[in-house]
Amino acid sequence: MRIYADNAATTKMSKIAVNAMMPYIEEFFGNPSSLYSEGQKAKEAIESSRGIVARCINASAREIYFTSGGSESDNQAIITAAELGKKAGKRHIVSDAIEHHAVLNTLKKLEREGFEVTIVPVNEKGLVDPADIASAIREDTCLVTVMYANNEIGTIQPIKEIGAICKSKQLLFHTDAVQAVGHIPVDVQNDNIDMLSASAHKFRGPKGVGFLFVRRGIRITNIIEGGAQERGKRAGTENVAGIVAMAAALDESVANMEKDAARLKSVRDRLIEGLSEIPHSALNGDLEKRLPSNVNFCFEGIEGESLLLLLDDKGISASSGSACTSGSLDPSHVLLAIGRVHDVAHGSLRITPGSDVTDEEVDYIIRSVKETVAYLRSFSPVWRDLCSGKSKFIL
Ligand SMILES: *Cc1c(COP(=O)(O)O)cnc(C)c1O
Repeated sequence: MRIYADNAATTKMSKIAVNAMMPYIEEFFGNPSSLYSEGQKAKEAIESSRGIVARCINASAREIYFTSGGSESDNQAIITAAELGKKAGKRHIVSDAIEHHAVLNTLKKLEREGFEVTIVPVNEKGLVDPADIASAIREDTCLVTVMYANNEIGTIQPIKEIGAICKSKQLLFHTDAVQAVGHIPVDVQNDNIDMLSASAHKFRGPKGVGFLFVRRGIRITNIIEGGAQERGKRAGTENVAGIVAMAAALDESVANMEKDAARLKSVRDRLIEGLSEIPHSALNGDLEKRLPSNVNFCFEGIEGESLLLLLDDKGISASSGSACTSGSLDPSHVLLAIGRVHDVAHGSLRITPGSDVTDEEVDYIIRSVKETVAYLRSFSPVWRDLCSGKSKFIL
């Protein structure tokens, strides 16, 4: 038996999405720029997918640009704002400490090119305070970029409030909504969003495809030069089957959102309750403003990596921090930003189950984590020092 509980890293494609993509691999495989019927069928499919995606976030079809995923969308949104800023003599950007590396590393690149970046801190629950954003904004600010929901600790940011601040100052607002789209309601009008990034493989679509929403009237910078696809804003022959499957997956996710979120929240809260019984443990992130599927804990006196490997042996796929940072020795920048010290941050576990998880599986996960943490502590020198009073417990 395997229990896949790492949906924040990627999801298994839904059957509906798989079925939707097959005709565009086998039959309508033509290049959408070609005039014969295989190509035109493909082109029509792209445009109807654009309409579906737009509807799911309350945008219009011409505001949707298909990309290779969340990372590319983040890059393009931020570079677009930077180019517009340069023209207006504005070279300052506001962001926060717990962004995905697709955002943080793009900002670092801009810093090397002479931009200034203000990183607003988050509180101990991982929440950004809109007042901090407001006070970080300067005369020369060209962009505010704050993620909709965090991929590690699941906190949902006050996006609408931050968007309203930016709107009142006529300032571009981008949000990395990769963890939010398809999981919680996202409405670019209501949320005052100018640019939004999303990725299909986080909502049961295929990997390697995503989209960028850019509000009408904003002049986009293309970061991939070539042909005139995506109205000249993103060159390269379109990933037709991927785009069609993404639209189908998003449509399905939005249709089932309420039902799935209700199920996931009850699973999440049972997991949180069960794992809280482990001594010297702590939940990371906010209890209320939290993604329906996200559970993230720190356990003192253990290594998250060892915990993962032993859970894998028991048939459970989970994560420690984010997939991108596993394999590196540095603890997660997100856990450090919410004030976890290095040793504690190293003992983290993220569980993000799918809505099809059974109650028996949830019980099995709780039991397995409890047993494994106790087992690891039984021969951990760090734990021994904590218990003997040689060092002090933090949690
Ligand atoms: C997964 C993820 C990304 C990157 O998306 P890709 O499609 O894998 O490039 C960006 N931001 C967040 C918050 C993510 O969870």
